Amino acid sequence: MNTSRIPGFYNMTVEERRKILAEQAGFTKEETAHLSQANPLSLDTADNMIENVIGTYQLPLGLGLNFLINGKEYVVPMAIEEPSVVASASYIAKLVRNAGGFTTEATDRIMIGQIQVVGCSDFDLAKKALLREKDMLLEGANAAYPSIVARGGGAQDLEVRILNDDSGSKYGQMLVLHLYINTCDAMGANIINTMVEALAPVVEDLTKGKVYLRILSNLADRCMARAKCVIPPELLASGDYSGEEVRDGVVHAYEFAASDPYRAVTHNKGIMNGIDPIVIATGNDWRAVEAGAHAYAARFGKYSSMTDWYADDEGNLVGELELPMSVGTVGGSIRVHPISQIAHKMLGVESAQELAQVIVSVGLAQNLGALKALVTDGIQKGHMALHSRSVAMAAGAKGELIDIIAEQLINEKEIRVGKAKELVAKTKR
Ligand code: NDP
Repeated sequence: MNTSRIPGFYNMTVEERRKILAEQAGFTKEETAHLSQANPLSLDTADNMIENVIGTYQLPLGLGLNFLINGKEYVVPMAIEEPSVVASASYIAKLVRNAGGFTTEATDRIMIGQIQVVGCSDFDLAKKALLREKDMLLEGANAAYPSIVARGGGAQDLEVRILNDDSGSKYGQMLVLHLYINTCDAMGANIINTMVEALAPVVEDLTKGKVYLRILSNLADRCMARAKCVIPPELLASGDYSGEEVRDGVVHAYEFAASDPYRAVTHNKGIMNGIDPIVIATGNDWRAVEAGAHAYAARFGKYSSMTDWYADDEGNLVGELELPMSVGTVGGSIRVHPISQIAHKMLGVESAQELAQVIVSVGLAQNLGALKALVTDGIQKGHMALHSRSVAMAAGAKGELIDIIAEQLINEKEIRVGKAKELVAKTKR
């Protein structure tokens, strides 16, 4: 994309938006056709993706605009059914852009494979045997998936833990081998699972125990991405609220989430509102990302806020988000689903590391969007106005009537389906 700022995009028709996007992203004729097609994911492809297929399920695909991350422009594809998320992400991205944009970083893409061993007669000896044969085990893992080694990745290290070592534990003692694998630009589940399954017989031999589970861990805490924004208070002023008031409100809202799991879970749901749509649009496994993110939010033994918000010495509002981000630009359904391929092209990311950094930036933006609304007018004002169209449609409005009913609902300050049904019925009399 040339720029992620497309003035007036909201007011264009879908066709006008597609035309601009296709020009900017350099779509081929085929890609443009996919975007305009009623069912881009064909039944045939779907039938080969999962089992017992009876159809396909569609979601709206919108564009998060205005994102400036490490000085680079991004147009963010977002697949989501909830109104106001795309608008809020784009609004905050513009605000952060005026403050210089997001800065991000990511670790190497090291994923974890686990091998569970039970029934060892001496767990300490079993652990020593595995550590002694570390090089042989790493070689064995890499021999099971040589192509990832050729790409510069592969199994790079291992660790061994003994669980339930404490005689007071109600669970049986077991040994867990962690294999640390660089999966390059793939999420890596299949690469990892292939490696740990291949190692299992050798691990049984060395430990004299029995191997049960051999699978990746979705707590991908060595495959991290971080985003940060620093916003001067004057950019935060909103209506009757001064920038300082908004900044302090956001910090208090964060402190609430950091202290209380009941609030943290809703706070974090708002962050995932930004993260899931891009994970879904890019063909990635959003259950894996969700599981890893929530587990990471509880890493200190108590479920807490995924983000940090504070005021720095200059009075700026600073936001930071750090999460495991096990996503890929290849593998799984990424190159199978035609819209996922288009999503990658419009994003213009060159690696999984870069994609992970865009995703956490969107999550951070979404969090600020929700907190800013919550500490000022409340969430309903903006949300319900955007929700009014869905309410009108749920009440049976079609075509031009959708906007007419939606506007009446907003004017009468009663955005609910019962009211919309009354209004639709009136138009039929
Ligand atoms: P794949 O099995 O599709 O593996 C990715 C493949 O992409 C590699 O085998 C590699 O093959 C190829 N490739 C091409 N270019 C690159 C590159 N630059 N970097 C890395 N690989 C490259 O997918 P994953 O292993 O990523 O597995 C993801 C899938 O696993 C998802 O669909 C997920 O839902 C699923 N899954 C998730 C689980 C979980 O989260 N708990 C459990 C089980 C499955 P080659 O080198 O031969 O070209």
